[in-house]
Amino acid sequence: MKKGYFITATDTGVGKTVVTTVLGVLLKSRGFKVGIMKPVQCAGGDALFLKKMLGCEDELATINPYFLKEPLSPHLAMKRERLDFDIGKVIQAYRILQDKYDIVLVEGAGGISVPLKDNYLIADLIREMGLDIIIVSRLGLGTINHTLLTITQARECGLNIKGVIFNKTRLGRNGLAEKTNPQEIARFGKVKVLGNISYLKKINPQSIIKSCSGKVDIKEILDESNPSQASKLREYDKRYVWHPFTQMQDWLKSDTLIIEKGEGNYLIDTEGNRYLDGVSSLWVNVHGHRKREIDNAVKSQLNRIAHSTLLGLSNVPSINLAKKLIEIAPKGLQKVFYSDSGSTAVEAAIKIAYQYWQNKGFKEKKILAHLSNSYHGDTLGSVSVGGIDLFHRVYKGLIFESLKVDFPDFYRAPKGKSYPQYTVEILDRMEDLLRKKRNRIAALIIEPIVQGAAGIIVWPKGVLLRISKICRENGILLVADEVATGFGRTGKMFACEHENVSPDILCLAKGLSAGYLPLAATLVTQEIYDGFLFDYSKMKTFFHGHTYTGNPLACAAALANLEVFEKERTLIKLKPKIKYLEERLKEFSGLKNVGDVRQKGLMAAIELVKDKKTKAPFPWEERIGARICQEVRKNGVILRPLGNVIVIMPPLSVKKIEIAKIMETIYKAIRL
Ligand SMILES: *Cc1c(COP(=O)(O)O)cnc(C)c1O
Repeated sequence: MKKGYFITATDTGVGKTVVTTVLGVLLKSRGFKVGIMKPVQCAGGDALFLKKMLGCEDELATINPYFLKEPLSPHLAMKRERLDFDIGKVIQAYRILQDKYDIVLVEGAGGISVPLKDNYLIADLIREMGLDIIIVSRLGLGTINHTLLTITQARECGLNIKGVIFNKTRLGRNGLAEKTNPQEIARFGKVKVLGNISYLKKINPQSIIKSCSGKVDIKEILDESNPSQASKLREYDKRYVWHPFTQMQDWLKSDTLIIEKGEGNYLIDTEGNRYLDGVSSLWVNVHGHRKREIDNAVKSQLNRIAHSTLLGLSNVPSINLAKKLIEIAPKGLQKVFYSDSGSTAVEAAIKIAYQYWQNKGFKEKKILAHLSNSYHGDTLGSVSVGGIDLFHRVYKGLIFESLKVDFPDFYRAPKGKSYPQYTVEILDRMEDLLRKKRNRIAALIIEPIVQGAAGIIVWPKGVLLRISKICRENGILLVADEVATGFGRTGKMFACEHENVSPDILCLAKGLSAGYLPLAATLVTQEIYDGFLFDYSKMKTFFHGHTYTGNPLACAAALANLEVFEKERTLIKLKPKIKYLEERLKEFSGLKNVGDVRQKGLMAAIELVKDKKTKAPFPWEERIGARICQEVRKNGVILRPLGNVIVIMPPLSVKKIEIAKIMETIYKAIRL
């Protein structure tokens, strides 16, 4: 068991330290290893007192990273000592304790709205530490208001409240207020009462055990009800949920990991285990989970409206986001059409490209061309322009005919062929084919530079530029599907920027809303947009749309996402991380079963092969990728493979040390 609680209070002087001591002593008496921490202390000896009472042998600097001389609010006390609060220092100390103990009790300073520095409150610290809070409240008149204020503010800040513990700070009989406080606070605050501690004349372990046993709901604090809850969830998952891309027969036999919370680059399961999110929750997360700015943007949008339609009306966030997207998109793109997933962004692109030529009177231009080894989504239109046979073979009878252009996977060149000559050959052949059919081809759809689902296939330099030229010279619209590559994943905001290519149509989804809400956008040039401007009676309108098109909550998340990119200079900070990932990937080339290692930005892949010389793959039935990822999971990293390819795609907020952890874990698993 690994647990941690942040003990806060409605005010100073209500007995946080006493309650923390009581909790620690009671938990210890139940046989748990209990660690304590007091991140910030302004004068006084709470940290030393706790250390002594609970017999903790950790260094004082770990238990109490900040000791300040003046009895002031921490931000002022720090200013006077010319200190700047560094959250990293506190988290690092906390992790040391977390590794060592079953339960760590972290005592706050004052209440949750106490500032630690400018624009940073205790509540922000609690959030970043990822702890649930226990509120200590004084019994007596006036407590209901104080406690409810703390509860409301805690929830507003996104904190989870484990419950309230009442503490009697003075000797004396319980009056009516003392008797009625707890149940009224529980009722109005919708919280659990975890304990009711009477006045303690003497504080030492023996006296605490004597007078407090049975007065604190230790079972609830230990979440002893939770394991059964988790197993119930597991049972319901198997009974009611059909998972995507999953052979449910296997799933029913497997042990299900259920994620309950997220925190930065980590996912946390129902048992409190932490996992590094090594695939950005399937390629969507950008700045980490529960990013404050994005959480707040969604919340503040919730205070206005959750949804209103774009059919016949407009809404504020969708307008602002469209403007912003056009400002950052490759030049030439002028209009934004919203939908809600990568597939629907592609559907819209296909229909726009097709209808554009119809509207303009080029009735023969009906063919959609696409590359082999491409993936554009799972709806039928996007499957029709998809080239991953293994997934889509069975739907052949349902899809429309399209033109598949041969395209290499750049790792397995045919015998006797070598790069770059082979690449040139392929592109020449593509040019011939497209030129020959130019009067019948409406558009070519590509995943620029990185073909994701095919196994993170990375194009050699120049390929994208050449393809864009071929399209332009032959009057074929170029549709760039940047659903996976968009929003920094390849090291630039959009992959097209690597070769200064401006597509006619750009599809965006996944990272658009930073992994928060389903949102997609199809961007088009003025020319294409103008191709739909006719008298209504001509029936050349784009008759297409989804109910949730332009959803305000999702657009608010996307806007906040882009603001964080600017504010934190995310793309600039990415450079050393990309370099570091490159370094770590080199170590893999020497491994016996590693055939190829590929990377563009923070998208990387390790392809496993049965035979390195012949490049013979592992038979897909062996599911080697899935097995490696299972092994990796045991060491606290979540990955999802593509067949025999291990995919590494952490959030852009990943730290070097976390990249190291991911790579070491994979290395170990492959070597096994
Ligand atoms: C994921 C993906 C899609 C499909 O997006 P969904 O949101 O899953 O529908 C389309 N194109 C590319 C390149 C993708 O990676």
